[in-house]
Amino acid sequence: MKSFFKKGISLVLGLALVSLLFTSNTLYSEAKSKSSAKKNIVVVLDPGHDTTHTGCHYENFEEGIANLYIAYYCKAELEKYSGITVYMTRYGFECPYGADPDSKSSCLSARVNYAKSVKADVIVSLHNDYDPDLDASQNGSKVIVPNANYKPDICVAGTTLGQSILTQLTATGLNVNNWKLCPNGTGIVTRDSESSKYPDGSAKDFYALINQSKTAGFPCVIVEHAFCTNYSDRVNHLSTPEQYQQLGIADATGIANYYGLTLK
Ligand SMILES: [Zn+2]
Repeated sequence: MKSFFKKGISLVLGLALVSLLFTSNTLYSEAKSKSSAKKNIVVVLDPGHDTTHTGCHYENFEEGIANLYIAYYCKAELEKYSGITVYMTRYGFECPYGADPDSKSSCLSARVNYAKSVKADVIVSLHNDYDPDLDASQNGSKVIVPNANYKPDICVAGTTLGQSILTQLTATGLNVNNWKLCPNGTGIVTRDSESSKYPDGSAKDFYALINQSKTAGFPCVIVEHAFCTNYSDRVNHLSTPEQYQQLGIADATGIANYYGLTLK
């Protein structure tokens, strides 16, 4: 009788323990799934320049057109992934913001304001480069990322994203550009303004898109895919829609890898 009673107690205790473990496990996994539940990522692609603010042109290469091609291909590739919404700051050759040709800065501000209006997590601005001295040795890809000032977490995010994109671009055969304005050999560069400051007194990022995005609370990276003034870059990477597609897919893969997205 005594041992039956004991057995009964231990059975009840055992069941209580199992149910407690089960409950806490359930709670733990619920909490875990909530914390790891990914929110939808909003990416704004910014095809640099337009007909009012033309970019670089050399031989048969027109930057504003090339950037638009790359952006369309990048968007199409990104939309193969789950959990992402992609917008573009322009879908045609014209400036959609009514900016006048003498006011490049108002056009750039309008692009950041557009990104804010769609609650962007990031702006990825798509460009190509030109060496003003026609120095043909300048070639390859680099990504200009936010500096470490004012909001260092935005620098970390932009640097990691920039590296992820650069890894994909070099896989297409492009070199890492050792930019002569910032020859650090990594292809991940920052550029400070010499005069403008953030509210904490530190040097602003030089590029308006980057400093205005940082102020708004999200990173912006500027991808300089290749140099139109370098023969190999121009002929092998900047001449055909297929080559622009390859660059757009590389950008998209870099973005998707950074956010840990999976294909639909
Ligand atoms: Zn440009």
